Amino acid sequence: MNDIKEKLWSIVDKDQEKLLSLCSDLIKTPSENPGGNIEIIISLICRYFDESNIDYKIVRGKEDCPNIIVEMGNDNGKTILLNGHCDVVPVGDYKKWNFHPFSGEIADGKMLGRGTSDMKTGLGGLIFALKTIKDNNIKMKGKIIFHIVPDEETGGDFGTKWLYNNGYFEKGDACIIAEPTSYNNCEVGQKGSLWLDIKSYGVPAHGSVGNYVGENAINKLIKLLPCLEELRVIEGKYEEKQLPILKNSKDIVKEAQKVPGVENVIDHVTVNVGTIKGGTKTNMVPDFCEAAVDLRVPIGVTLKEVLDKFDGIIKRLGLSGIEYDYTWNSEANFTDADTELVKSVVANAEAVWKKKVVPAYQWASSDARYYRLKGIPTIQYGPANTEGIHSYNENVDVEDIINSVKVYLGIMVDLLQLNIEE
Ligand SMILES: [Zn+2]
Repeated sequence: MNDIKEKLWSIVDKDQEKLLSLCSDLIKTPSENPGGNIEIIISLICRYFDESNIDYKIVRGKEDCPNIIVEMGNDNGKTILLNGHCDVVPVGDYKKWNFHPFSGEIADGKMLGRGTSDMKTGLGGLIFALKTIKDNNIKMKGKIIFHIVPDEETGGDFGTKWLYNNGYFEKGDACIIAEPTSYNNCEVGQKGSLWLDIKSYGVPAHGSVGNYVGENAINKLIKLLPCLEELRVIEGKYEEKQLPILKNSKDIVKEAQKVPGVENVIDHVTVNVGTIKGGTKTNMVPDFCEAAVDLRVPIGVTLKEVLDKFDGIIKRLGLSGIEYDYTWNSEANFTDADTELVKSVVANAEAVWKKKVVPAYQWASSDARYYRLKGIPTIQYGPANTEGIHSYNENVDVEDIINSVKVYLGIMVDLLQLNIEE
């Protein structure tokens, strides 16, 4: 084993109380999105950087949406981008939690609270990796650029997407996002997303003559929406070398969700009718109804292919007065598993955990897409217990937090040739 890695990993073991205290502080600082205040947690992170003598700057696309950018290193090698979001989804019903949602305490080897898995301990791990480099006078060949963003949970318009649109990252040799995975897999690709806003227009009339007069906008959507299930037959297309990753991904979702057939979400379109609204009053024929639908599109299928099939369904049903728009969309994207980055993550995670680690595709999507759109090899790897994510009783294993930092530092050793100046 590489000497420098052993040294860094023993430093992490020695300093683990400091790492856990940082993560705990992040959990104790609420940053719910929507509904919370991001400035407080951003200030906390800035203070931490100040105390660690790490330079940073804050950029914002609008008020209340600060992003922290840290740059460390030099131009004599590769550039590694790091990304973490500091917002969390709302806690929901407090009564459904078995502990305080912003606890940050450790019990039975687990850290407890909203954001422990998604993704404050991953974020804390990346911050701590930088502090370890700084505190121990470690030299690197190349550069680390760290993006800490405020709004991943609501689409990232003023976070990663804004940084992407405003020239904050044009190139890089690798990008590590500390989103939750399990310790034994590294995410190398994700499905596309297509959020449809479907509007149905009708002709109003008195409800008493509705079967003969007017045109019922609600009934049109009642006809259309069940037919969207037809989109689920659309299947992903993969290169030969991607097939083992596809299999890993199916095994992971089966294990996580424990529902027969759920593995199909990886390589098929999924359809969720999320909201529906329509009509004015019981005795009026409704002239308007709208629904919002979340479609997820597998690797190898374009959004256009899905939209074409959707248009075909509307046409076949002979429905008039249907309009739609898509406000949020991204094509499926992936990083080749044979890149140096992916090999490094897998090798380091296996060395730290002494267990098998595999590349896999995500069934949802994340900010990784923006880095992949720039052609930057991008992976996600972060501490997680998947069952509490976006739900109640979120927690994470302490061992997972500590080992993730070791993996991050191991990747930096490989890509930036870290070296301890004696
Ligand atoms: Zn997340």
